[in-house]
Amino acid sequence: PLVLGIETSCDETGIGIVRGSILLSNTIASSMDEHARYGGVVPEVAARAHLEELVPAIRAATAEAGIRLDEIDAVAVTCGPGLAGALMVGVGAAKALAISLGKPIYAVNHLVGHVGADVLRLDTDDTTEPLEYPTIALLVSGGHTSLLLVRDLVSDVELLGETIDDAAGEAFDKVARLLGLPYPGGPQIDRAALEGNPTAIRFPRGLSQTKDMEKHRYDFSFSGLKTSVARWVEQKRDAGEPVPVPDVAASFRESVVDILLTKAIAACVDLGVPRLLLGGGVIANARLRQVAQERTDAAGIALRIPPLSLCTDNGAMIAALGAQLIMAGHEPSSLEFGADSTLPVSDIQV
Ligand code: ATP
Ligand code: MG
Ligand code: FE
Repeated sequence: PLVLGIETSCDETGIGIVRGSILLSNTIASSMDEHARYGGVVPEVAARAHLEELVPAIRAATAEAGIRLDEIDAVAVTCGPGLAGALMVGVGAAKALAISLGKPIYAVNHLVGHVGADVLRLDTDDTTEPLEYPTIALLVSGGHTSLLLVRDLVSDVELLGETIDDAAGEAFDKVARLLGLPYPGGPQIDRAALEGNPTAIRFPRGLSQTKDMEKHRYDFSFSGLKTSVARWVEQKRDAGEPVPVPDVAASFRESVVDILLTKAIAACVDLGVPRLLLGGGVIANARLRQVAQERTDAAGIALRIPPLSLCTDNGAMIAALGAQLIMAGHEPSSLEFGADSTLPVSDIQV
């Protein structure tokens, strides 16, 4: 099926068009620059930007795919989780489009969409083997840090754990800010860390003590780490000593990478699932990808990382999930659905 996907859960206005698993276009307009001076995504600003960007993005996506809007078989849209106001803009647009074209609509889960990105192929000659199930998925971005057990993409996704405070990307952004680096912080820390020593400072690994293991085995925590970095930097400044930014960046990054991968690989081993899929904007982190490869190789786990343009928020992954639901024979969503900022991951389609 030819499916148009709409993604507006955070600061990316994403429109994607797919034919089955084949990616035809993936248009992304980000309001990231507008949030830079606030040091994080401002919900109201994001929602307004979606309203302005949606129609041009739809036009650009259909032009790039070489199709007319009335040729699509269905509309897919992110209805949660995410920022309520931002989601509402996409949901409203998707409903209007579906009604005016007389096409079915599929309201889908954003996090499951990140997993769905893996099915996309750039062309029909791409012979990458389809992902096997079950698989463990680690999704890390500015808004989420979640570990999922995916038994089946369209029918069985379970949340194993998630962050109990900040998301990993948020931690990168906050630590960058206290080091005086601009937003978004992830790429800045990655760059500064190149000249730093990752073992210079031993920052804490949240929720990895034996006492945490019973209740929070697969959960994450980054706020203690952030506080620990803040205190370390403060002490240096109080002592009138220069802050070794590259060492702090490298040591902080090492801690985040260790926390994320220790938990993800523990889930694979505990549950006997020899497959790990990564997704979300933090996957852009060079060290995270490197250590993920090393540790999965050592543990005999197959590692999957979709292209980066499909790891950050985008409409193509939403279209892909919609197409998978259609091909599995799922009924369209009824038009009465709304935006649900806390939609649980087990609700793959609403
Ligand atoms: P959502 O949480 O809904 O997916 P988001 O907009 O917060 O939305 P993304 O756009 O996928 O998430 O990712 C942005 C986040 O990724 C930011 O927090 C940014 O700092 C982080 N990030 C980007 N590049 C890197 C990197 N190289 N290393 C670490 N973090 C990075
Ligand atoms: Mg973003
Ligand atoms: Fe996301």
